[in-house]
Amino acid sequence: MKLSLKHLILAVAMLAVALTLFGSIYSGYRTNEQNLIENGLETNRVYAQKLASTTDLFFRTALQTLEQSAKALTPWMEAGASEQQLLAEAERLRLQTNTLNSVVIVSADGTIVQNSPQNLELIGKKLDSQGGKQALLERKPLISEPYMAITGRLIIFISYPIFDEQGQYLGLVGGSLYLREDNFLNELLGEHFYHDGSYVYVVDAKGHIIYHQDLLRVNDDVSSNQVVQKLMNGQSGAERVSNTEHVDMLAGYAYVPTLGWGIVSQRPTAMALEANRKMIDQMLLNALPILLVSIAVIFFISNLIARPLQRLAVLTESSTKSNEHDRFNKVKAWYYEATQLKRALTFSLGFLHDKVDHITQESNTDPLTKLTNRRTMDRLINQWLLERQMFALVVVDIDHFKQVNDTYGHAVGDKVLVYLAERMKAAAGEQALCCRYGGEEFVILLPNHNRSKAFQIAERLRMLVCETDSPSGDIITISAGIADSSERGQADKLFQLADQRLYKAKHDGRNRSNAG
Ligand code: GH3
Ligand code: MG
Ligand code: MG
Repeated sequence: MKLSLKHLILAVAMLAVALTLFGSIYSGYRTNEQNLIENGLETNRVYAQKLASTTDLFFRTALQTLEQSAKALTPWMEAGASEQQLLAEAERLRLQTNTLNSVVIVSADGTIVQNSPQNLELIGKKLDSQGGKQALLERKPLISEPYMAITGRLIIFISYPIFDEQGQYLGLVGGSLYLREDNFLNELLGEHFYHDGSYVYVVDAKGHIIYHQDLLRVNDDVSSNQVVQKLMNGQSGAERVSNTEHVDMLAGYAYVPTLGWGIVSQRPTAMALEANRKMIDQMLLNALPILLVSIAVIFFISNLIARPLQRLAVLTESSTKSNEHDRFNKVKAWYYEATQLKRALTFSLGFLHDKVDHITQESNTDPLTKLTNRRTMDRLINQWLLERQMFALVVVDIDHFKQVNDTYGHAVGDKVLVYLAERMKAAAGEQALCCRYGGEEFVILLPNHNRSKAFQIAERLRMLVCETDSPSGDIITISAGIADSSERGQADKLFQLADQRLYKAKHDGRNRSNAG
């Protein structure tokens, strides 16, 4: 089956609607995606910044607390405080401030004079951890780099020196933060861990992880990470990155100036874009009724456009069988092309039908006498016999016609034939069909006549002919043989019968009719 114009219009229009719809949804998606990514980056940037200042504040406060403690300890360190007093202070520092996992009070020569919790059992021992040694050496407020203690713990040592009023070094008060265990820093950062894949991590100045939700990753070297490198350069900001597991992330990062640390807050890009996907679903859902209405409207319009052309096409196809002039006129050609096509088709089909009519007429008539020819007559007789239509047959032959030709010439002979044809039509009446059967033989078909009624007509014709001069100047006579459809059921048999009667009329002396 060939595609119809209606379907083509429908397809093109639907394609246009689909492209527009999906184009706008796609551009909406893209715009929104951009916004969501920018928002995600900004949110993480602000968040990392906030955590950075909180962490900064946390360590400043820790140092301040140690500073106050150092001041409180000064008189006791000078005079030699009781073990109980020092223990009370160490316990206070650890428990009340809730910032340090362990606290030590150390004398100027590096001997630990008190510790909390007590089960550390460090009293009397030398402070020889990496952070401790650094603090004793520098005699300055210190937040050490993370390092592995003999206990196997990863720790940061925070300490404050104790000086007397003369500026003489008396020792230090300090404490450790166990990075892989519960501590204030973990609480601060960990509470912001989301369940959608977002997380926060902290790196030190050398690019090692200090804090991570996954404790096993603490102390990992991530200095090759592009965001970490920026942090190590003291930069803050936000960017889209791939994490170690190759997950696309929106990362905000902030530098903590007092510590040289960096804080990274990141969220999977897919999570940030989740809302966008939902928006697309919603948009498609909202567009559905509009889409359905559009389809209906497009269907209606494409039908309207295609209809006149379709009608014209169908009528053109069937117009070869019959004249569809009226139906052509009824086609509503409401736009230019259809109007022009209709006009051209109406004209050419009219022309065609005139021609066909003319040719049909020609093929049915004898050119000399303009009577119906033998072929048409045969067809009619067979049809009538089939329909059991009652009719009579008169076979007419001019007597001694040869002589007319011989005497006056063939042209005059022709005129005599035309003359007889006219007489025949006059005598036979409107209902009759006069035919030239061949040469100078004629047949009159008389529907609803029996042979006796037909005989009368044959006689009327014979009288008419023999009473008038023919074009030759002489009178011609005719003989006729008559039969009717009740006598024979087949055309050739019926003709045979009429011919025999004609022959008999000739034999009996011519100028007579014989109906048997
Ligand atoms: P009859 O029928 O009385 O026995 O004698 P006839 O002279 O008519 O005999 P026949 O049927 O043998 O001759 C018919 C003649 O009609 C022969 C032919 O020259 C002539 N004829 C046939 N067709 C035409 C025609 O179209 N024009 C002319 N002018 N003559 C024709
Ligand atoms: Mg003859
Ligand atoms: Mg004859």
